[in-house]
Amino acid sequence: MTHNAIRGVSLIDDAALTSGGTFWSTKEDDQGRRVLLTDGPHGVRYQAGQADHLGIAASEPATCFPPAAGLGQSWDPELARIVGAALAVEARHYGVGVLLGPGINIRRDPRGGRNFEYYSEDPHLSGVLGSAWVRGLQSGGIGASVKHFAANNSETDRMRTSSNVAARPLREIYLRAFERVVKDASPWTVMCSYNKINGILASENKWLLTDVLRGDWGFDGAVVSDWGAVADRVAAVSAGLDLTMPGGGTAAGDEDIVDAVRAGVLEADLVEQAADRVTRLIDRVTEGAASVVADLDLDAHHELARIMAANSIVLLKNDSGILPLTSTSRIAVVGQFAMTPRFQGGGSSHVNAAHVDIPFEQIAERAADVTYSPGTGPGALASAVEAASRADVALVFLGLADHQETEGVDRTDIGLPAEQLELLRAVVAARPETVVVLSHGGVVDLTEVDRLAPAIVDGALLGQGGGHAISEVVFGDVNPSAKLTETVPMRLQDAPSYLNFPGEHSQITYGEGIFVGYRGYDARDVPVLYPFGHGLSYTAFSYGEITATTDDSGVTLSLPITNTGSRAGREVVQFYSGLSDSGVQRAPRELRAFAAVTLAPGETSVATAHISRGDLAYWEDRTDAWVVEGGHYTVWAASSSRDLRSSVIVTIEGDDPRVPLTAASTLGEILAHPIAGPAFGQAMGGGLDTSEVSEVGMGADMQSLTNAIPLDRLGAMSGGVAVVDAAAFAPLFDMANAPDICS
Ligand code: BGC
Repeated sequence: MTHNAIRGVSLIDDAALTSGGTFWSTKEDDQGRRVLLTDGPHGVRYQAGQADHLGIAASEPATCFPPAAGLGQSWDPELARIVGAALAVEARHYGVGVLLGPGINIRRDPRGGRNFEYYSEDPHLSGVLGSAWVRGLQSGGIGASVKHFAANNSETDRMRTSSNVAARPLREIYLRAFERVVKDASPWTVMCSYNKINGILASENKWLLTDVLRGDWGFDGAVVSDWGAVADRVAAVSAGLDLTMPGGGTAAGDEDIVDAVRAGVLEADLVEQAADRVTRLIDRVTEGAASVVADLDLDAHHELARIMAANSIVLLKNDSGILPLTSTSRIAVVGQFAMTPRFQGGGSSHVNAAHVDIPFEQIAERAADVTYSPGTGPGALASAVEAASRADVALVFLGLADHQETEGVDRTDIGLPAEQLELLRAVVAARPETVVVLSHGGVVDLTEVDRLAPAIVDGALLGQGGGHAISEVVFGDVNPSAKLTETVPMRLQDAPSYLNFPGEHSQITYGEGIFVGYRGYDARDVPVLYPFGHGLSYTAFSYGEITATTDDSGVTLSLPITNTGSRAGREVVQFYSGLSDSGVQRAPRELRAFAAVTLAPGETSVATAHISRGDLAYWEDRTDAWVVEGGHYTVWAASSSRDLRSSVIVTIEGDDPRVPLTAASTLGEILAHPIAGPAFGQAMGGGLDTSEVSEVGMGADMQSLTNAIPLDRLGAMSGGVAVVDAAAFAPLFDMANAPDICS
């Protein structure tokens, strides 16, 4: 019997299409077509032989571009787009149709085990970079899979744990980047995460996959499960999940779907819809495969990887201009990462890098007198110290080991290995002119490094071109311009999420609410070692006066900026907004836009940016809607979240949100309502006007007290003085709550 009239297939055929065919592919459709899906996101991990999703079995050689921890630091959407386009070429080479990325989860806590795969603690930055990456990839005919949807911010117990998040942080922090990417870049697929959200598995979460993703945001692609994320096929299809991965195991549960339809517990239409969406994906991939892209040139991509890496390096500190070095400097290179670089994390994103630049070799090519000492291991410390004492400068490579940053595991602390700190102490004692070069994905405790070393180069994870890029920055061939995408705290204990990570007994309370990352450090005025958005240059920039114009679309900003130093350089200007007298809780400042300018020495240019009106909105959980609050917003132009250079006040007309009134509304809420308020005051015969009491000296307190009383409890609170029949106001409230009045 035909179940799907358009495609003329039966229910079991449709059900079958909603689960994978092999570990890395869909089943074949009725035309014999199927889609190959493969990990990303910073390289193509195509496994020709044995398949796994933990990065264990071998994969074909591919370019390892900087992972998100590095690329994010470029604050450069154009670079993200170019990486996406280059990845499409590599994916096409291997016959891949969907590349599993980008990862745009929020780096909620410094210990998050997959932070290296994510861009930032900030949703605006994550969303803008994610959108650009998706556009680049899909322009090359390859589908993206935006992951991990949603609130997947830790690895501990990752397949069962519930991220318990209130509506505001969920919308404003954890879903916002996904919303931007879905609306701006139309990804072909979204990958649901392993975890639960407020008690319901993402793979079975109808609110998430259907109401929000498709209903609110208009997503028109397919939802793919993370590998093994589906516990119940019927519940998943009901919720709006289209493709359960991986396939190729035993009972995929296709029959369960048919049985559920027959038993009347699953609507046949939902199965058809899911199969239609998988078919649409196959169509898109087929069309994509017919478009023209360049042939894969691994050498050209290696050059690109070097450029990306150079743009991803943050100069954290450079006291007395110790950097850049000159080719005549005598350099003692110390630390094993100089010879065996750490440039990506472990797990499903691990790429078989086609070619790897070795930092030591690259440095040795640029200077005549360069030595190498591993520094750690038996007897190594003494020779490192000896080499450092005979050099002009020591270049010490420190960082996290592979096993400290890999999928499936959170860190329990953020310290650097003790032997590395011991090495640094000894080297600095022998050679105070020491430059530290860092390799790591997530944040590390740098307090001691900062105390000891006059210069710190943060290489994060740079991909296969990192060695070359580090040498370019260290010798000044590239003037660093990258900036941090995550706050470096003084101590882990200062992190806003410190006590709520990673939860226990499969429950994580997102207790810090909207105060994630710099929002939380700033709201509590906690000192940090290096703020979000920080990054130095070999030149200096002076900021002029920020100006703003507003219209219905939002706020347009201009900032003159001058390169006052002696080298060409690029500055990333960050625009933050704040509303100090907001009626709701807010962070003091939130990133709303950013722009980069590249300036020759002495040159002035104007950085411009636009904050869309919608980006100023907060999530009003009482009405389940975005609301732009009216008021006088401060907008800052800043070099980092704590280096605010110029500000302007902009006046924004509000959305006039009206929280529905009920008999349990307080007098304050009722009186503040533009329609119900005056009518209510009149009906009460002015008897609620507390301004009279203010004349006898108890007004302000009295007024707040009165305003806080729910209408239906006024009688009891007033000892019977105010006789109020709350029910009598129902018609007034109905009128005030009518949809055309209540925004
Ligand atoms: C990871 C995903 C990955 C998938 C396929 C999962 O374990 O969470 O990010 O895309 O495996 O390898």
